[in-house]
Order: sequence, then C-alpha cells, then structure tokens
Amino acid sequence: MLVGHLGAGLAAKAVAPRIGLGTLVAAAFLLDILLWLFVTLHIEGVAVPGDYAETHRLAFIFPWSHGLLMAFAWSAAAAFVWTWSGGEGKYFAFAPTVIAATTFSHWILDWLVHPPEMPIWAGSESLGLGLGQSVALALELVIAAAGLAAFVFRSKLSASRRTAIVGLTLVVALLTVFGSTMTSPPTDMLTLAGTSLLALFVVIVVAAVVDREGG
Ligand SMILES: [Zn+2]
Repeated sequence: MLVGHLGAGLAAKAVAPRIGLGTLVAAAFLLDILLWLFVTLHIEGVAVPGDYAETHRLAFIFPWSHGLLMAFAWSAAAAFVWTWSGGEGKYFAFAPTVIAATTFSHWILDWLVHPPEMPIWAGSESLGLGLGQSVALALELVIAAAGLAAFVFRSKLSASRRTAIVGLTLVVALLTVFGSTMTSPPTDMLTLAGTSLLALFVVIVVAAVVDREGG
C-alpha cells in the first residue's frame, strides 16, 4: 500500500491542521521507511514469491517494522520524538495522539491488504486479511480520495498549494496502480529499498514544502 498511507496523512491534517503535513505524511509512511531501512541493513527481508505473476505482491519478513507490538512501539516513539523536539506544545495530549494514531494507521491499512505475514511479535503467528488485489487497490484509492477530500475541505492553504497536493496525490496514486499491476518483479532488493526510500522522502518533502507558509 502506498497512496492509501498518503490519504491517512492527509486525513490527519484535516483533523489536526496545526501539525505540519510533512510530519503527518512521514508518520503515515514511518513503518515503510523503517522496512526499507531494515532491508538495506539486512535486518528484514523481501522476496519474490512463486505466484508473483498473478498477485504482483512481494513477500515480506518484517517483524521489526510491521509487527503489531512493534507498530505500537513505533507509534509511541513517533509521538514522543515529536513532542520532545518541541512540536507545537500548546496542543497538549491531542497532537501526540494524532501523530501516534497516524503512525499506527499504517499497520491497520497494511493488515487489510497483506496476506497473513504480519506477526504480532517476532516469531509469533502472523496476521493479515489479504484482500484480493483489485479489491485492495480499489479500497486504497477510495481511502486516498477520502483523505484528500477531507484535506482539501479543511485546508486553509491557497488554491495553488491545495492543487499541488491534489497533483502529488494523483502522482502517488499512479505509482500505486503501476506498482500493483507491474508484471516483472524487481530483481535487486537493495535497489528496490533505495528507490522506495527516495520516493517516500520526495513525497514527504513535497508535502512539507507545499504546506509551509500555510495558515
Ligand atoms: Zn507497510
């Protein structure tokens, strides 16, 4: 899942307009950022399963980034780091709660689409609803559209900046559709990790830059 997580970040911005959009999008992507970092460090693994041609899905061993208990821990850590770094303290408990919820939304959205490969903790039984590919893609696009609509409705940014966020979401949606219909599997997982990290970084930076000067 990709653009669905962006949709969660956009929805969070509608709920908590004073938290930077870049921060919220980064929170929504955090588990994947950790995944690709851990793949680079050989702490977690990704492989091309035998049925890739039909499912277009990679198989993951990712207990540290996408385990349920770890997702709780990362969500708490994100809220703590945000608070500790001085993020708009006037919000009191509300803003860290939004940061934690946005971070944890990643696990819930991934649980919908991943087959049972998301452990509760390392070595435990694995969870995952594993919705069919077309259903999962349709659901993800609906989530993204809903998040974008909530963002546009609540945002006080200028029309051109809101349009830029709509454009960003469309580009990420196209990437998502492309990724879930691609027929040839990736050959080098380190390259995949690097390009994925770069793509997430670009989306976060664009979201942060466009949201700056917004009032
Ligand atoms: Zn994920």
